[in-house]
Amino acid sequence: MVKMYYNEDADLKYLEGKKVAVIGYGSQGHAQAQNMREAGLDVIVGQRKGGASYEQAVADGFKPVSAAEAAKQADVIQVLLPDEVQKKVYYNDIEPNLEAGNALVFSHGFNIHFEQILPPTDVDVYMVAPKGPGHLVRRVYEDGSGVPCLIAIYQDATGDAKEKALAHAKGVGGTRAGVIETSFKEETETDLFGEQAVLCGGASELVRAGFETLVDAGYQPEIAYFECLHELKLIVDLMYEGGIATMRDSISDTAEYGDLIAGKQVINDKSREAMQKLLKDIQTGEFAKQWLLENQVGRPAYSKRKEIDANHQIEQVGEKLRSKMNWIEE
Ligand code: NAD
Ligand code: MG
Ligand code: MG
Ligand code: MG
Ligand code: MG
Ligand code: MG
Repeated sequence: MVKMYYNEDADLKYLEGKKVAVIGYGSQGHAQAQNMREAGLDVIVGQRKGGASYEQAVADGFKPVSAAEAAKQADVIQVLLPDEVQKKVYYNDIEPNLEAGNALVFSHGFNIHFEQILPPTDVDVYMVAPKGPGHLVRRVYEDGSGVPCLIAIYQDATGDAKEKALAHAKGVGGTRAGVIETSFKEETETDLFGEQAVLCGGASELVRAGFETLVDAGYQPEIAYFECLHELKLIVDLMYEGGIATMRDSISDTAEYGDLIAGKQVINDKSREAMQKLLKDIQTGEFAKQWLLENQVGRPAYSKRKEIDANHQIEQVGEKLRSKMNWIEE
């Protein structure tokens, strides 16, 4: 069993007396900055003016400054910008303001692992990556608990990088739930694989394929929506609580028999080969190169595919049905 770190394994003193800059006040930025401030750390927000994130930071009681100013004032600089813009902001605004002994922090390893950002050797470089979306990182912290985090040390210039990473994870709330140590390589590759093959790419295509199969066979789209999308949450909640075995305990034996004989017909050797191909492209840097190039040319494929999927029948049916589900808001 891998070692888990909890509150008692982390000491905030490694970040006390230091200023922590959170650069980018988006999904992760707003959550991590507020959690760390409530944990008693000295947090400054770097967020460009004009836009919802800037207004949100002000509304949350911060006095946001430019990324360059935040990096200049801070000893610990956490980069919570979109992965594809981190390189530019790093070289323009952060690197010129780094001093020996500072710490550079990420919540995903993309830019370090794929060598988009090459930090100087005299700063600590570590990662604190919450394993959940930003709004959950904030909400769960306010409820007194935390979202599990990964930490990783890329460069230990001061000798305290790991202690700082654990303290940082404690500030974010991660040590309330459990922290696991990984490497930048492992976090980057598994995070990209998980979102592509299973969580985002795999799940959304599975849902659409099931929906289309039913609708093409003449069933009502509303019924197909409930069976293939809506109920997925209920099943995933059971898996989250007790694994696949507990989920199977809760469903009818008919559903369980169907699960046992049908799953491998849908996800089979061909799907596994496709997963291996995705993983290879992630490991070789092919995916990273493709995504960075896509951004450089203005995201044509990204925009086109997004538009096609946004116009899929399942979205229209879903919008109508969800507008009548007043319990979803909560
Ligand atoms: P986000 O898009 O929600 O927020 C990014 C912030 O950066 C916004 O406040 C935006 O205004 C600002 N910004 C955007 N472009 C900018 C530019 N050119 N110059 C200056 N500021 C700019 O990003 P996020 O989802 O919070 O992701 C931040 C990091 O956290 C990424 O490394 C991501 O991989 C990682 N991460 C995200 C999640 C998640 O749930 N969203 C989970 C784990 C890790
Ligand atoms: Mg500095
Ligand atoms: Mg992830
Ligand atoms: Mg990710
Ligand atoms: Mg059913
Ligand atoms: Mg059963």
